[in-house]
Amino acid sequence: MSENRVITPKEKEEDQGFDLTLRPRSLDEFIGQGQIKANLKIFLEAARQRGEALEHVLFYGAPGLGKTTLSHIIAREMGVNIKVTSGPAIEKAGDLAAILTNLDKGDVLFIDEIHRLNRNIEEILYPAMEDYGLDIIIGKGPSARTLKLELPHFTLVGATTRLSLLSSPLRDRFGNIFRIDFYKPEEIHQVVGRSAKILGVDVDEEAAGEIAKRARYTPRIANRLLKRVRDFAQVKGKNRIDREVCAGSLAMLNIDELGLDEIDRRVLKVIIEKYNGGPVGLGTIAAATNEEVETIEEIYEPFLLQQGFLMRTPRGRTATRSAYEHLGYKPPEEDKLF
Ligand code: ADP
Repeated sequence: MSENRVITPKEKEEDQGFDLTLRPRSLDEFIGQGQIKANLKIFLEAARQRGEALEHVLFYGAPGLGKTTLSHIIAREMGVNIKVTSGPAIEKAGDLAAILTNLDKGDVLFIDEIHRLNRNIEEILYPAMEDYGLDIIIGKGPSARTLKLELPHFTLVGATTRLSLLSSPLRDRFGNIFRIDFYKPEEIHQVVGRSAKILGVDVDEEAAGEIAKRARYTPRIANRLLKRVRDFAQVKGKNRIDREVCAGSLAMLNIDELGLDEIDRRVLKVIIEKYNGGPVGLGTIAAATNEEVETIEEIYEPFLLQQGFLMRTPRGRTATRSAYEHLGYKPPEEDKLF
């Protein structure tokens, strides 16, 4: 299912070592997102000059666009340690208290998928973010007392793919909120070039462009595709990735020239074949494609919407003329189309 897709933007186990090698280590190495980098540079410089911790930062955007990378860059540029955790990993109040009390002054605490934090844990975070305080309750019943611990001034960096799921009190406590957008095709092209160089693979410009075109404007997918193409070239005994190697390997992965894979096509096919082009609800699409509603909403839909293959209407999703044409169906009458 979706997690096995080559083009899932979510991190897969196979990415881990690979991601680490290819992860940009400074803002200057980080490709694209010019506005965010310009802002961060100023905030970082100002905090450094004042000798203070950076204000809390929230990054939101689709998976694989660089949220984790930026949080590591922030820590590196501030010359502090980073502690990495995630919303679902913090199960008990004590887990968070242990993490917070182990931070040093200026440290970065990175919480991925912060929208999945428990509400009662979120409440511990409020005073920690605001006044660097931690309220601990000692004892039970009438003799219970609250002890206030002072925490070092730290920077919370939160990342989320779903800003709308973040409670507003939590959102309000971030000094800086950055939206990370999909990359421009030429930026993804640069990502492919940079990664190829680090990996020591020879990729010609045209092939790099082909990989970039299929990477859904997402650096993580670009890197993963490059890796697959590199393996293919190696097995075929070629030491250079050219158009031919690239076309052969991408065809084997079943990724078409616009970056759609088997499951994207299945989503569109279901809407077109079974529901006459829609509108059809997300739950129905999920059931018919054997995927989870959340996965469709978070991974397939944004790309299909952005490519103009899918439309969201109050009554559900509809397939567009481009979807019909791309998949080789005859589009219905004009007035039935969106
Ligand atoms: P997220 O946390 O948003 O899911 P990551 O920060 O883990 O994404 O990025 C995934 C991979 O994509 C990183 O390991 C890195 O190699 C690559 N990457 C992300 N953003 C960039 C960028 N702007 N420039 C170059 N490579 C990037």
